[in-house]
Amino acid sequence: MKRLSLKWRLVILHTIVMTLVMVFVLTLLFSISSKEISANVKSELQDRVSESFDYISIKNGAVIFDKDFLEIKDGIYLSAYDGDDLDLLYGKIPYGFHYDLGFLKDDIREIKAGDVNYYVLDSDVILSDGQKLTVRGIVSIDAAQREYALTLRIALILLPLLFFLTIVSGYILSKRALDPVEKIIKKTDDIRREKDLSKRINLENTSEEISRLANTFDSLLADVEKGFEREKRFSSDVAHELRTPITVIKMACDDLLKRDDLDQDMKEDLETIKRKNDQMAKMIEKLLLLARAEQGRYKLHKHDFDLSKLAMIIGEEFKVLGKERGIEVVTLITPAVRMYGDEDLLERLLSNVLDNALKYTRSSGKIILKIDRDKDIKIEVVDTGIGMEKSQLEKIFDRFYQVDSSRNDSGSGLGLSFVKWITDVHGGKIDVQSEKNKGTTFTFTFKDQIAEK
Ligand code: ADP
Repeated sequence: MKRLSLKWRLVILHTIVMTLVMVFVLTLLFSISSKEISANVKSELQDRVSESFDYISIKNGAVIFDKDFLEIKDGIYLSAYDGDDLDLLYGKIPYGFHYDLGFLKDDIREIKAGDVNYYVLDSDVILSDGQKLTVRGIVSIDAAQREYALTLRIALILLPLLFFLTIVSGYILSKRALDPVEKIIKKTDDIRREKDLSKRINLENTSEEISRLANTFDSLLADVEKGFEREKRFSSDVAHELRTPITVIKMACDDLLKRDDLDQDMKEDLETIKRKNDQMAKMIEKLLLLARAEQGRYKLHKHDFDLSKLAMIIGEEFKVLGKERGIEVVTLITPAVRMYGDEDLLERLLSNVLDNALKYTRSSGKIILKIDRDKDIKIEVVDTGIGMEKSQLEKIFDRFYQVDSSRNDSGSGLGLSFVKWITDVHGGKIDVQSEKNKGTTFTFTFKDQIAEK
């Protein structure tokens, strides 16, 4: 299963934390305000009942109620009863409330009538003539809570909206935080793909940590680049230094071979030394050329040339060489395929690949050299030789890599690295298909720059 990206993990974490905080804060707020409302209603009820005592007086031996007693202030209904009886003397009670509810003095009770909850407070008042009345205050809790319920409903509607905003803000925040990391990944990937160690990440205007990470990468790249440069210079220096002793050995061998006091054994040994020395000279030449090429010191001479003609000439040479070894070399060349490139290098490319095909094909085998053009220019070298394992295919372009150095003593493992470099500087692509003991096909594809012009 694909792992969730850090960006989305941060969004999810941010949303969970923010939602928990929101739910906690809202729950706390509502539980506090619910208690606060109850306490307020109770205290208003108490005040109103105490205040109502002033509305009752005795006039000419009769109990007189002020009209304020009937007023429903803050939703509180007042009613007065004769002593401990439940005989209503004056006042109002809410519609549907119990007429026969017994008294419980000076204690606020919660009573349900129908679907409505009420607070009820009964208090005695002693009038100026010593008569005792009971005043009852009734207030609906639900009415007071209604406003609070409305706020709660609004909050519940707002919650999904806040949830959505949390996701969006989390996404924007994590994207902003991780965008520079994406940039570093993209740039390092570009450097890896283009194999251009001179490039740097160069990230500006970013946070301190990310900029430190980018700078560390850049220093690492600089170190790796220096290392590669040193290695290239070393190969080219060594190859250069070896040229003189090799020339001296060659000259000394030639001089010695001219002498007539040598016996047959000595002559054969000298021939072997000379042959191996020539082989070494060729290898050093290739190494020097490759080192120069990789250092960018090889000057390309690109021009428009007839690739078909060049392939025809090389093909003829290899037909002769093939015949000597009992191998049939066939050319299937579309005439007049022109290419814009370094003719010299293309000649080396063809010779190297054909040389390998000859080296690794047994007698009575077959080699085909094909030149073709549709949209792109295509060079194909097919052989029926010993082939290679799949695992070896990706290494054959490395310098000094040989599948089995014992199977040819003239190889150096440099030929295909050079072929790869030539293909690269011409913007081409190489495809190798090979099967053990069946054969190998090298296909080179180049953009037709002349047709594109
Ligand atoms: P070498 O000088 O050893 O031929 P190259 O760089 O030209 O070096 O080739 C690298 C290795 O790839 C060779 O050692 C050989 O094992 C393998 N190889 C190249 N071309 C072929 C081919 N046509 N058939 C089989 N193996 C091949």
